[in-house]
Amino acid sequence: MTNDDVMRWLERTADVLHENRTYLTDLDSAIGDADHGINMDRGFSAVRNKFPDMVTMDIATRLRTVGSTLVSTVGGAGGPLYGTAYLRAAGVAAGKQELTSADVVTMLEAFLGGIVARGKAQTGEKTMVDALTPAVAAAKQSLDEGATLAQITSRASSAAEEGMKATIPMLATKGRASYLGERSIGHQDPGATSSWLILRSLAETYESK
Ligand code: ADP
Ligand code: MG
Repeated sequence: MTNDDVMRWLERTADVLHENRTYLTDLDSAIGDADHGINMDRGFSAVRNKFPDMVTMDIATRLRTVGSTLVSTVGGAGGPLYGTAYLRAAGVAAGKQELTSADVVTMLEAFLGGIVARGKAQTGEKTMVDALTPAVAAAKQSLDEGATLAQITSRASSAAEEGMKATIPMLATKGRASYLGERSIGHQDPGATSSWLILRSLAETYESK
């Protein structure tokens, strides 16, 4: 993964979260406070405003800028959770001009690790962790099988999509949706959905190459 790939991933993520802001907010209106799309779009619009400054930055500095921008601009759970995720991902890239496939998988693991460290959710609690955990597992497995980065990221994205769909029958026990108790059942988790969109954007970075 080159520094240019990282830039294309971030640009794609900002576009996709903007295009899906109503979808994410609609999902959050069912089991939350109807702001997840607004939150993510606000955060990534602020990230987009930093793209000109990012031209001269290395991979780690770019990812660190995303993390700190999300922490400072996104209200709600998503800001600190994703902010920590990108900051941890930046840690993996520190000092590297390019990431190997193994580095990318380690970066995804660190991304998930940041969310778990911050939010303390386990799988099955109806959160972003339910999309990201199977995605990281799929990425690791593909790497072990000698897959290309395009295959690794595509399989991670597909696993995240399945994980996202698997949140529908879950009872929420973390975050705002947990206040609904049994009424959280039958709805797809908005955070798991934005996590899938972020990974789909990563996969699309390689599809279009
Ligand atoms: P808020 O709930 O503060 O309005 P958002 O609407 O931006 O924040 O984000 C809601 C999403 O955050 C949920 O759909 C869920 O995926 C995620 N989430 C909430 N709490 C946690 C947690 N403790 N760990 C992981 N993810 C969480
Ligand atoms: Mg919300």
